Parts: sequence; C-alpha cells; structure tokens
Amino acid sequence: MTSTHAFWLAGRQATGEATLDVTSPWDGRLVGQVSVPTEAQVEEAVAAAYAVRDEFAATPAHVRAAALDHVSRRLVERTEEIAQLISAENGKPVKWARGEVGRAVSVFRFAAEEARRFNGGEAQRLDTDAGGQGRLALTRRFPKGVVLGIAPFNFPLNLCAHKIAPAIAVGAPIILKPAPATPLSGLIIGELLAETELPAGSWAVLPVPNDKMPALVQDERLPVISFTGSDKVGFAIMDSVPRKHCTLELGGNGAAVVLGDFASEKDLDWAATRIATFSNYQGGQSCISVQRVIADASVHDRLVPKIVAAVEAQVTGDPSDNATDVGPLVSEDAAKRVEAWVDEAVQAGATLLAGGKRDGASYAPTVLADVPADSTIACEEVFGPVLTIRKVDGEAEAFAAANDSKYGLQAGVFTHDVQTAFRAHRALEVGGVIIGDVPSYRADQMPYGGAKQSGVGREGVAFAMDDYTYERVLVLTGL
Ligand code: NAD
Repeated sequence: MTSTHAFWLAGRQATGEATLDVTSPWDGRLVGQVSVPTEAQVEEAVAAAYAVRDEFAATPAHVRAAALDHVSRRLVERTEEIAQLISAENGKPVKWARGEVGRAVSVFRFAAEEARRFNGGEAQRLDTDAGGQGRLALTRRFPKGVVLGIAPFNFPLNLCAHKIAPAIAVGAPIILKPAPATPLSGLIIGELLAETELPAGSWAVLPVPNDKMPALVQDERLPVISFTGSDKVGFAIMDSVPRKHCTLELGGNGAAVVLGDFASEKDLDWAATRIATFSNYQGGQSCISVQRVIADASVHDRLVPKIVAAVEAQVTGDPSDNATDVGPLVSEDAAKRVEAWVDEAVQAGATLLAGGKRDGASYAPTVLADVPADSTIACEEVFGPVLTIRKVDGEAEAFAAANDSKYGLQAGVFTHDVQTAFRAHRALEVGGVIIGDVPSYRADQMPYGGAKQSGVGREGVAFAMDDYTYERVLVLTGL
C-alpha cells in the first residue's frame, strides 16, 4: 500500500482532491502517489507568499542562513534514502543519484554562505560633478517579488534546490513547482524546510498539473519566473508574459572538441572515457550531456575506437544496482523518440558504430558517424544516450562546427594549449567553455546558463540571487 505524499503551502502540509501516480521508468512499479493541489489551494499558497514578502525580505540574514544550513545538514543525514528515491522516480543510477544529493547539499550550503555576505551595500560619491555636491548614494538589492520556480525531471532534487535556496538567501518568497514525473524529490525539500523557522508562506512546493500552469504563470503577484526545462515550454512561457522577469535554463546539444595537440595515448584515453561517461550519464538526459564529438583529423582515427570501446563498456541495467552506469530513460515514449531519431539518421546514411537498440524505456549507449547535417539528431537536443562524431581539419573548423547549432549551453575543448583555451573562450557561442574536459562539467556556484536557444539569464547560487533582486539606490542629501 503506497501512502499519498502531501504537498507544502503556507507553512503546512496539505492534500488536495486528486492524486498523481509516480512510477519507476525501470520496472513500472508505483513509487508513490502525490496529492495534487486544488485551484483554491494554489490560490492560498500564492496569497500567503504575496502577503509575507515584506516580512520575509526583512527576516535577518542569520535566520535565513541558519535555515539553509539546516536543509544542507539534513540532506547529508538522509543522503542514502533520498538517493534511492531519486533513482526510483527518475530511473537514474543510484550512484549518480548520490552525487545529485551531494550537489544539493552544496547548493544549500553555498546559499547559506551567500546569504551572510549578500547586500553589504555600496556607497558611491556623487560629488564628482556639481549637481551631486553634498550628496551620497547607497545601493542595496531588494527582492523583485515572489518567485515562481519551475523545475524539470532530470535532476529532480538539485534543480529544485537551485530555485529555492537562492530565493531564501535573498528573502524572496517562492512557489516551487517540481516536474510531474519526479515530484517526490522536490517535496523532500519541503519536508526539510518545514523543520525551520522561516515565516509561513515564504516557500511552497506544489505539484501543479501542467494544464493549470498558465494561470500561475500569468499571476501578477509572481513577477519573477525561474524556469528550467525544454526550450519549447520555456520560450512559450516567456512569450506569454513579456513584462515579467524570466530566467530560462533550457536545452543543449553539447559539443566535445578534441584538438590535434591532445594526442598522446593517455590524452585520448582520458578524452574517450570522459566522452563515453558523459554522453550516457543518466541516459544522456542532462542538458550538458555530450551529444556531438568534433575531432581533429590528426587524432580522429585513433580516438573513435577508444570512444566506441568506452561506450560499449558502460554498464546498463537496473538503476538501483550500484554497478549500473546507464539506466532507463524517463519513459518508454522518450526512448521511442530517441530510437526514431537514430533510425532516421541511419536511413539517411549515418554509420552506426555502437548501440542503436531499444528495450522498453531503455536505449543502448549509441555512437553514430557520418550523420547528415540536416537530420533531426544533428540539429536537435537528443536527450538520450547518443553521440555523433564529426571529423574536422584544424581549430577554426572545429570551433565553427561547435557553433553550428541553435543551442549554446556549454562546450568542452580538449587541448593543452593556453592560447587555444583563450581563443575557444572568445570563439564559442556558449555559456561556459570547459578546457580539458567534456561540456558536462558544472560546479553549482559558477555562473551557469545558455547562449542562443539554450536560455536567458544565469543560475549558480550567487547569480540567481542577483537575478531575484534589483538594485535600489538611496540618495542622501545635505552632507
Ligand atoms: P519540460 O519543458 O517538459 O518541463 C519542465 C517543467 O515545465 C516541468 O515542471 C513541467 O511540468 C513544466 N511545464 C510544462 N508545461 C508548462 C506550461 N505550459 N507552463 C508552465 N510550466 C510548464 O522539460 P523536461 O522534459 O522536464 O526537462 C528536460 C529539458 O530540460 C531538456 O530540454 C533539458 O535540456 C532541460 N534542462 C535544462 C537545464 C539547464 O540548466 N539549462 C537543466 C536541466 C534540464
């Protein structure tokens, strides 16, 4: 018998009238049932968040920091249980799920540290021209208002943490909406926040169904929207509320560029292992997964067999098994879509070097070469365990190939040359360039976000805090 998980609003646990089944993508078993808030309950949460915004902004930094530290500590204590839950609802191999909990621990800890540092204020002299004589400006940042945080399924705990922790750090109330496939991990954050002294109403975790989201998006009491998910949904939200502040963290089809100076056996072994691991990491369902390998002609022929061997060595199977590297995708439909895209590319002339098979929601780690430039898999975000390999001649062609995408989230460049690193930084149209590694590296304190269709704005704890607030200047006269 599965118990129903309540949601969190106005400082308390509540249940609605309907429930949502959460099932394991691995074996279809029922992992839990989540209560869905009624429209009246959503209204109660928004009204409470709106009413508490001045009180929350004035809550001392040490109180907010202590609450964030508490959540961080409790996540450490409950790591194994939460990792098992993430793995069950998402299908993510449990070893990666443990890593995700570890990252959420850091996000809450960074937010506590930043809350203590934030908003020291800045003084600016205004008497540098005659009109400012006798005046001084003081600048502080204040919350823009209540935040609506919308999270995707692929990091169900950590991407909820990235929405809620910076909001608490700046004293902005937040309504957090986890993804329908994976709401249980987000609700755990509610459970831990309920153990703190934060004002009732300052946070809510509500599994609102997608068809009820447009009303929430339009609600004028929620001026800030922080969205992580697909470009289709993200841009539709932003287009529907052009006057709101929207941060969009969207998709990508990350490129790993391997240049000619990265050529020793050790170099190529490292590049191949990292590429194989991070094109399959959680079934390729990471926005910074390696989707495109761009290899210089001088290393290409030695690199490709190493990548194929490393991809074939990935252990697929039951996500609850500690040895598993690659579990199922989030659903059988997702795996069927990946299968269709690979089949389409192969029919159009691509060469299948590994994988290419589906079993239910699982798709085998796959490598493609000679992919036609206009095939879906070359143009779109595959969000599955598939990588394509392209041979290029020299650095300029490699960077042009990496930029040949509507997305621009992160890129990895395997080189030892510091001048090349700086040229890559200038040339690549992405939010982050990772030298000596795959594009899939993310530290939770660094600025993170996309160029082109990969997004608008930046996350990373301190950057989200800036995003949730605005500068308000105080001018003192008669000094
Ligand atoms: P999705 O766009 O389908 O859903 C994201 C969230 O939006 C979910 O909570 C969903 O319920 C909600 N949603 C759906 N319709 C909505 C509507 N009309 N109004 C408001 N909210 C609505 O994305 P997904 O499948 O959950 O996640 C996968 C996508 O997320 C991929 O494209 C991936 O690249 C992207 N992603 C980006 C980042 C990043 O930081 N850039 C991180 C992780 C995932």
